[in-house]
Amino acid sequence: MARLVREIFEEPQKGIRFSCEFFPPKSAEEEEVFNSTLKTLQGWGPSFVSVTYGAGGSTHNESLSMVARLTKELEIPVVAHLTCAYASKEEMANILKELDKGGIQNILALRGDPPNGSKSFSPPPGGFSYASQLVAFIKERYPNWCIGVAGYPEGHPESSSLEDDLKHLKEKVDAGADFVVTQLFFNNLFFFEFLDRCRDIGIDVPILPGILPITSLKQVLRFTSLCGASIPDELLSALKKAEETQGAKGVKRLGIEHAIKQCTELVEKGVNFIHFYTLNRSPATVEILQELLRKP
Ligand SMILES: Cc1cc2nc3c(=O)[nH]c(=O)nc-3n(C[C@H](O)[C@H](O)[C@H](O)COP(=O)(O)OP(=O)(O)OC[C@H]3O[C@@H](n4cnc5c(N)ncnc54)[C@H](O)[C@@H]3O)c2cc1C
Repeated sequence: MARLVREIFEEPQKGIRFSCEFFPPKSAEEEEVFNSTLKTLQGWGPSFVSVTYGAGGSTHNESLSMVARLTKELEIPVVAHLTCAYASKEEMANILKELDKGGIQNILALRGDPPNGSKSFSPPPGGFSYASQLVAFIKERYPNWCIGVAGYPEGHPESSSLEDDLKHLKEKVDAGADFVVTQLFFNNLFFFEFLDRCRDIGIDVPILPGILPITSLKQVLRFTSLCGASIPDELLSALKKAEETQGAKGVKRLGIEHAIKQCTELVEKGVNFIHFYTLNRSPATVEILQELLRKP
């Protein structure tokens, strides 16, 4: 039987732990890259891995089969991201049955984004409006499953205020979520303030900072425009300059150096679990781990 992520948090912890997020490869070539990425990162001992669910459920079959495959192959927990934005409750009940059949019991319960970058979300007929409802729906049917949810150090783009957003994060935890993974951020202050605000309102589950090592300027600009995270002015200017003077290699170097600085500071200030957005590539994450794990 697969282990639950919350069991990892309950174990006494020695040193820094980490998890890796992957997405289902879209071609045979990408699949090969993913397999080699997984093999390399496995060597570093992640505590769990997670697999994304394409926007609008677009990778439903690929995500589920990848999670089922990894659950069979790996000895660590595999977390299935699951969005409810486009599913009716009946459809979601069937998806949960499929997951159960595949022995999958770790879920990152998400609402999902509105279509085509729209800033407002309307639930489908007979569907869910918020991730907190999905958490409750899962808990009602599978009380023992382990559920993670998303948290937003800079606030979710649709939320009217940081306070409101936090209140809604608390609703997800009160509905049964066992842990929180944050949206990417490039300024640790946002994370530390978020952590304080979470603890202040009684969110006491583990909160894992989500770290994206920047490897492409175009890509990070696209991600941040969608998810509402900001790039500090100084970092953005440096990235632009690196691209002009050294091209893609320069951007990658700077992105990795920034992620190393971020992770080092997080660890120095007491964070002992980091979630990496790997984008199915290992070199950047490996460089960060090399730096982090050789430190006492
Ligand atoms: C770690 C992580 C992993 C992700 N993985 C995926 C993935 O695999 N696939 C994918 O498609 N997307 C993924 N996303 C993106 C996510 O789907 C979007 O950010 C989505 O817009 C919000 O999802 P949520 O679960 O945070 O929604 P919710 O928690 O429902 O929040 C959505 C908005 O509604 C507001 N809200 C919540 N409850 C209420 C309420 N009761 N009343 C009024 N307002 C409320 C919140 O403040 C927020 O503004 C991920 C995000 C993160 C941080």
